Amino acid sequence: MYQVQHFIDGHLDDGIGARSGKIFNPATGEQQGEVTFASVADVDRAVAAAKSAFPGWSSTSIMNRVAILFKFRELLLANKDRLTELLVKEHGKVWDDAAGELQRGFEVVEFACGIPQLLKGEFSAGVGGGIDAWSMRMPLGVVAAITPFNFPAMVPLWTAPIAIACGNTYLLKPSEKDPSSATLLGELFREAGLPDGVFNVVHGDKEAVDRILEHPDIEAVSFVGSTNIAEHIYQTGTRFGKRVQALGGAKNHAIIMPDADLNQAVDAMIGAAFGSAGERCMALSVAVTVGDEVADALVEKIVPRAREIKVGHGMDKANEMGPLITKEHAAKVRRYIEDGVQQGAELVVDGRGVKVEQGFEHGYWVGPTLFDKVSPNMSIYKDEIFGPVLAVVRAQSYDEAVELVQEHPYGNGTCIFTRDGDAARAFVQDIKVGMVGVNVPLPVPLAFHSFGGWKRSLFGDHHMYGPEGVRFFTRMKSVTARWPTSIRSGANLSFPTID
Ligand code: NAD
Repeated sequence: MYQVQHFIDGHLDDGIGARSGKIFNPATGEQQGEVTFASVADVDRAVAAAKSAFPGWSSTSIMNRVAILFKFRELLLANKDRLTELLVKEHGKVWDDAAGELQRGFEVVEFACGIPQLLKGEFSAGVGGGIDAWSMRMPLGVVAAITPFNFPAMVPLWTAPIAIACGNTYLLKPSEKDPSSATLLGELFREAGLPDGVFNVVHGDKEAVDRILEHPDIEAVSFVGSTNIAEHIYQTGTRFGKRVQALGGAKNHAIIMPDADLNQAVDAMIGAAFGSAGERCMALSVAVTVGDEVADALVEKIVPRAREIKVGHGMDKANEMGPLITKEHAAKVRRYIEDGVQQGAELVVDGRGVKVEQGFEHGYWVGPTLFDKVSPNMSIYKDEIFGPVLAVVRAQSYDEAVELVQEHPYGNGTCIFTRDGDAARAFVQDIKVGMVGVNVPLPVPLAFHSFGGWKRSLFGDHHMYGPEGVRFFTRMKSVTARWPTSIRSGANLSFPTID
């Protein structure tokens, strides 16, 4: 049994909160650790540390800030196996999937190492007689991030490197379900030479989050999690005058056209629906087939493949899919499967009876599950299940398929499988979704683009990381300067124009 502590002002910290949470190994169902929950006073101490670190950090030269980020990247690489193991044991995802999550997080650190280029601003020489004008991006101050369980390292790395590179000081409230990697990130930042108080972690739940939302010294809040909480975070944070980006849940559709390369589409659906046990906000959970022939062929090809997926604990590298995060969540996913049956969908592969290796029977297992003939009024279509459940909806035309995506309240990711350039181009142009793939099932933008959904998948104006991340964590200042040696024209009381 281990204890996960906060990381405040450069030090591991027990806090004074009386409450704690249990950390389970989802593959065995056993409690393996405990995490200290922050009280209001703990959050206040972390914010105070970040606030007092801000003047020094924001005035540290940009090259010195970047030197620390380069060192941090080296340390991440050196500790990759250690981090991977933490993710596998606390989240449950399989080894290669955890390593992939880290890789995508490290890429944001690499992007942030280019911050001198990204913060160059804009300059106009000679906008008037002896007058120059420029715009520059300034850090906000203390910023906070609240992150979900499903990417315990990658999502914190979507924001921390950019926020810090821009000169902000930062407070992270990670998921209480798999908190260890967040504290380890703090220790690696310290080893990289980051001054105390620039990166802080408080663990906990609603109590800590509520304090973050109302704290007068926090300028901005970046949130990733489920939609109802995202909406609450956005409404409350903005009410307290903060800049907020709040990324929510998803129900991602793939449209499979009659001319698609079916084998490519099947490979893609297997990986994107069942990878990470479907606990990805970009998971493909709906396959919309255009025409019954495509539907029949797709289902026929997916069934044996779904049954062959090796389900088991993530430390065994032969396994391809791990357990769900908690006992309660596994029960919820099973309930959705039952609802699908009750509501008349055809259950073609049932993951509820999945068998796992001896010794892991008490883990939170639900195997790959496939429904055919799902209709839009069913809960397995309407709701984000966040489990390995793929729903096939049979449409008869491209227009009918597109209409489904447009009408769905979520708009995180989507993709189309086709060889038809016209159809693909129309889809890319028209679809009301933030991230779109053409024959690419998980169109997660690389670190130098930005990540974000539309509709009820994102509340706020900024997407995450990439250029949008830099915009979110800075505010613009515009300067107009006339030097004393320039021509004097006397006092002028009318509104300034520049000749
Ligand atoms: P969650 O909403 O339960 O928790 C997210 C964070 O909010 C955690 O830190 C949690 O402690 C905190 N929280 C939970 N309940 C709260 C409350 N009542 N008040 C204040 N804070 C609260 O989400 P989760 O289960 O950890 O993560 C899964 C969800 O996140 C899915 O819906 C998934 O789609 C979404 N997600 C979205 C993206 C994206 O980029 N859009 C990425 C990853 C995950």
